[in-house]
Amino acid sequence: MRFFNYIAHEWIPSASDRWFANLNPANTGDIIGEFPRSNAADIEQAVRTAQEAFRTWSRMPAPRRGEIIRRAGEIFIRRKDELAAIMTREMGKPIFETKGDIQEAIDTAFYSATETRRLFGYNTPSELPNKMNLSFRTPIGVCGIITAWNFPIAVPSWKIFPALAAGNTVVWKPSDDAPHSAVIFAEILEEAGVPPGVFNVVHGDAEAGAALVEHPNVRVIAFTGSTATGTQIAARCGALNKKVSLEMGGKNAVIIMGDADLDLALDGVLWGAFGTTGQRCTATSRLILHEPIYDRFLRMLVEQVQSLRIGSGLDPDIQMGPVINQRQCDKILSYIRIGQEEGARLLTGGKRLDTGELAYGYFIAPTIFTDVLPTMRIWREEIFGPVLSVAKAHSFEHALALANDSEYGLSSAIYTRSVEYAFAAMQDIEAGITYINAPTIGAEAHMPFGGVKNTGNGHREGGWTVFDIFTEWKTVYVDFSGRLQRAQIDTQSD
Ligand code: NAD
Repeated sequence: MRFFNYIAHEWIPSASDRWFANLNPANTGDIIGEFPRSNAADIEQAVRTAQEAFRTWSRMPAPRRGEIIRRAGEIFIRRKDELAAIMTREMGKPIFETKGDIQEAIDTAFYSATETRRLFGYNTPSELPNKMNLSFRTPIGVCGIITAWNFPIAVPSWKIFPALAAGNTVVWKPSDDAPHSAVIFAEILEEAGVPPGVFNVVHGDAEAGAALVEHPNVRVIAFTGSTATGTQIAARCGALNKKVSLEMGGKNAVIIMGDADLDLALDGVLWGAFGTTGQRCTATSRLILHEPIYDRFLRMLVEQVQSLRIGSGLDPDIQMGPVINQRQCDKILSYIRIGQEEGARLLTGGKRLDTGELAYGYFIAPTIFTDVLPTMRIWREEIFGPVLSVAKAHSFEHALALANDSEYGLSSAIYTRSVEYAFAAMQDIEAGITYINAPTIGAEAHMPFGGVKNTGNGHREGGWTVFDIFTEWKTVYVDFSGRLQRAQIDTQSD
């Protein structure tokens, strides 16, 4: 079956007439369909359409836009089971996780809809008499949205709903590893009442993404993906004076102190490291164990990891699905080799699973390395798979130093019963998110989300902060004195 781009409520083929196949990573013989490998001409058409639609959409009262977005959330609820199966089939994570992915979009829709009745501005005193100062948010125009495949609905929704709520129009270039979910997103927005041209989807790879970045009438780029791609995009946006928000890679650490509730920590590490097959920007990929509980916790962890049920996410009993594609499978296996060559100790896993039905997909055994040193590549580089690197800390300060010794800074966690350790971690861990006695994954839609260092560029999605990406501030001075008043000149202090 062939799928098309979505522009102005029409499903249209790409000008390129080139296609890519979308495969089920749990069974690569299961081909979901062919999608257009779009080019600059497709982006041009979508951006022109979105620009025309901006005139009316941006002038629609914000709460009316909010009603449409709220309806989209309700349709996501209605189509949740169907969409979860589509998403699992194309990107592999188990159905209970893809339902969670959609729930995040529902929460974001309702949150964004509510924000359309706020979008607060400021009204402040003037330094001059009979003068009033206001500042309020204005929409920017066409927003280019470029996303990764691991949260095919949730992550795009963090960008699309606030962008639309604020009065912008959107051209979205979804990941070529999860394009089918994007088709359903478009169907839902259309049914909800989003007018033609306000929301457009152009499928493809880096070529289409780069054309979106380069287009002069795209005033904002909101990107989620790897640090390598994001950095490249930011450089272009810098040269083009374009607003850009980046959500990029992570290498998230969990600290487990000797006083922690180890059963609680065990559940958290299992879920953080091997949920979504470790393919989350917030996945736990570094585990820092306080010396007194090091051996005991590892024994507990290995026992649980070895009993994880692995297979197609469409099977409701499965706990961990495949990795996304051949490239990623090769990359993870090469990091496993690198870890062994660097001298880390392979405690469990470390191989591709290729017996029985698993032979048809990209399955890798959940893998744990111990004796990992901070100089090793498996400690420093994002692997984005079911691989956990463990180091031993002899004190809280040592644990903190290990956690912070990273070029990334997205999520982090500490398990402890000590108020002192918990508060010191909140204050001193260099990350955009810190969890106390909870895993590194589990963001909520109404809270700021994003990272420091090479994870981001200072923006935050989620919550109220996302509107800083999708709006400009307009400042207005109203002088009703009836005479010329000169700021600074008439108010000199000497
Ligand atoms: P990727 O960087 O390869 O691709 C991301 C998107 O960018 C895709 O849509 C891709 O087609 C597009 N793209 C690639 N090259 C481009 C270019 N030159 N110009 C414009 N667009 C281009 O990332 P991926 O493999 O799809 O996703 C995995 C990465 O995403 C991991 O590093 C992960 O940590 C990160 N991620 C981050 C977050 C976060 O919120 N911080 C969330 C999810 C995933």
